[in-house]
Amino acid sequence: MSSHPRAVVVGSLHYDIVVDAHHRPAAGETVAGTAWRPVFGGKGGNQAAAVVAAGIPCRMVSAVGDDGFGIFLRDRLRAAGVDDSHVATLPGQGSGMSVAIMDAGGDYGAVIVSGTNMEIDPASLEQEGLWEGATHLVLQNEIPEALNIAAAQAAHARGLSVVLNAAPARALSDTLVQIIDILVVNAGEAEALCGIAVASLDTAQDAAKALSERFRVVVVTAGGDGVAVAGMDGTYLEPGHSVTLISTHGAGDCFIGTMIARLVGRHALPDAVKSANLAAAKHVSREV
Ligand code: ADP
Repeated sequence: MSSHPRAVVVGSLHYDIVVDAHHRPAAGETVAGTAWRPVFGGKGGNQAAAVVAAGIPCRMVSAVGDDGFGIFLRDRLRAAGVDDSHVATLPGQGSGMSVAIMDAGGDYGAVIVSGTNMEIDPASLEQEGLWEGATHLVLQNEIPEALNIAAAQAAHARGLSVVLNAAPARALSDTLVQIIDILVVNAGEAEALCGIAVASLDTAQDAAKALSERFRVVVVTAGGDGVAVAGMDGTYLEPGHSVTLISTHGAGDCFIGTMIARLVGRHALPDAVKSANLAAAKHVSREV
């Protein structure tokens, strides 16, 4: 097996059903949608695919059910070029899935059922070949915290850098926080973790600085406003790109996958953040 530098993603796979509608329904309202389509998703799967799209090999640890959604997810993961040999198929269990309603403005609201993402076997982290050639582990919050901790410890013990995308936001144990090398959060997640409302690049910087008291390096993405980074080498800002917005779906995943690919490719963090900001700006200005 090649030992070309690569990333490992331990995380979620979701069969996302995306429904287009003029607006999202209010409580008790039924809205006539105009179209629907299945989309490969889950923050883990999207980030793994984005790493490969940015030119770096990636292995994924996850689990799907033995249902049609699971077949779709594995097929798409393979088609994206992600190594799925550590993705389990769990008999008699339902795959992770979501329903997202995309409005005419390109914003969406979603409901997620975690399914088999909550059942990933920690023993998968010790499978042969999983860590070979890997330099970075990427985690999100769509799998149990205990599995994130086990994965972070396994990676750290092997000398990998550990990157946590704390999405969706949830309380993080000190055990996990201490192992994380880079925390990546969007505006809402930053506010949930440090209490500072992020509504501009300046406030993103305030949040990144506050979070850097707890995490070694913090990257706060603030949508079209830009990105703030804080850590041992001080803080810096990367302004947003002005684009015609089509959909923000998966923007953060594109950002993280690209950033990780650059880091695995031995680029420095400021350069990786710059590339990721450009790739994500292109992503939001195209149809998903
Ligand atoms: P998430 O998708 O996780 O909510 P953000 O909204 O911060 O996270 O978007 C992630 C990245 O996508 C941003 O850092 C930026 O690079 C890009 N992006 C998002 N929205 C826009 C926008 N309106 N214009 C340009 N780039 C954008």
